[in-house]
Amino acid sequence: MPSPSLRLAVVGGGAAGLAAAREFRREGHSPVVFERAAAVGGTWLYAAPAAADPLGAAATHSSLYASLRTNLPREVMGFIDFPFVAGAGSADPRRFPGHEEVLRYLEEFASRFDLYGLVRFETEVVRVRRDGDRRWTVTSRKLGEKGKRDEEEVYDAVVVCNGHYTEPRIAHIPGVDAWPGKQMHSHNYRVPEPFHDQVVIIIGASASAVDISRDIASVAKEVHIAVRSAPAYTCKKQPGYENMWLHSMIDRAQEDGSVVFQDGNSVIADVIMHCTGYLYGFPFLGDDSTITVDDNCVDPLYKHVFPPELAPHLSFIGLPWKVIPFPLFELQSKWIAGVLSGRIKLPSKEEMMEDVKDLHSKLEACGWPKRYAHNLSNYQFEYDDWLAEQCGHPPIEQWRKLMYAANQKNKAALPESYRDEWDDDNILAEAKEDFKNYL
Ligand SMILES: Cc1cc2nc3c(=O)[nH]c(=O)nc-3n(C[C@H](O)[C@H](O)[C@H](O)COP(=O)(O)OP(=O)(O)OC[C@H]3O[C@@H](n4cnc5c(N)ncnc54)[C@H](O)[C@@H]3O)c2cc1C
Repeated sequence: MPSPSLRLAVVGGGAAGLAAAREFRREGHSPVVFERAAAVGGTWLYAAPAAADPLGAAATHSSLYASLRTNLPREVMGFIDFPFVAGAGSADPRRFPGHEEVLRYLEEFASRFDLYGLVRFETEVVRVRRDGDRRWTVTSRKLGEKGKRDEEEVYDAVVVCNGHYTEPRIAHIPGVDAWPGKQMHSHNYRVPEPFHDQVVIIIGASASAVDISRDIASVAKEVHIAVRSAPAYTCKKQPGYENMWLHSMIDRAQEDGSVVFQDGNSVIADVIMHCTGYLYGFPFLGDDSTITVDDNCVDPLYKHVFPPELAPHLSFIGLPWKVIPFPLFELQSKWIAGVLSGRIKLPSKEEMMEDVKDLHSKLEACGWPKRYAHNLSNYQFEYDDWLAEQCGHPPIEQWRKLMYAANQKNKAALPESYRDEWDDDNILAEAKEDFKNYL
């Protein structure tokens, strides 16, 4: 018997939403992609910052800064069956290209798989509510059209692909309310020039913190990086820099403009930049979605995708972090597509809940807080390969696993230059051989 074609609402037209739309249509479903912006790309659509609210998200979705180059080699980063290769005459053929090249790649993906016709641009999903047992009423709003009423439509399933690098998470700093300097979050950082001759404190050790501290050190008087995981009493000048130091975390900020680190040193600073990550948020979902976000853990979700109570009629793509995102989106999408058409079976509700509990027990046993629930750094390929197996898809290519590991190692050894120097040419040759299957 042919599987039923379902009408699916996909929230978001970034890389995850595009991957989902492609897989859902391949499976015979009818997806509609709701996208707030006027273009596809999500994070990769570079946009002006929210100047009025430097600690908040305001209306800006993207957190890209001007100098951003990918932190994964393009071969690793691309979708499995649509290699991210530099075409003839490419504007940026580098292995770790600038953000504009990633946007071009996603646009090509959308064109190649004829996805533009599925996207409703400048349309925000404002509410998603259950409509009976298995269906959803999706309320959307056409942006920029005054006086137009919200539109309500019924869908068989809702797939959430709204991204999770927009809503800033802010570090708690005792005394900061009386401190006279400026605070901002990396979400609103674009270029170093405004920090000319200033003393800037960067909080965090993520890829963004590393990039932004180096960007700013090129113009600032001093850059001080405060890292929670640095051993107490750390105060080290950074190799290769005359004006950059690594410290343990900030202890307090004071009314006289000084900021005191846990290592006992203090500086009079102009700016504190929080490179402290982001929060998951689903403002359009109500209590009937059955999920909650507690300590940045979206719960309960079977394999980071399905709330057991409502599976498969509500799902989430792209929640895991410390992963290679695009191939993971592709595999999650294939899995959801197959489950929705009944081709792939899910365990019972009770079994899925047991699996969720298992994950939490493992986190607890490792002493990890709940907010690490979607951190897949220790098992992303195991997870990908599990998804692939569910879908009858080959596991993640061996060359991709090896190249990812080689890049991690190279990044640690050459933090300043890993994007331009590498020694994995043998793996690169293997990847190029594999790409011949798709080009
Ligand atoms: C600074 C930075 C650097 C990164 N560098 C890399 C890298 O080098 N390599 C890599 O692979 N990944 C990188 N990433 C991760 C990147 O976020 C993912 O690669 C990927 O783009 C995420 O795609 P997404 O579709 O899940 O989310 P997004 O790209 O955030 O897309 C979500 C979309 O949903 C839309 N949306 C949200 N809410 C609604 C709503 N209510 N109604 C309608 N539309 C809505 C948004 O407008 C947006 O277009 C980086 C991320 C950041 C922030």
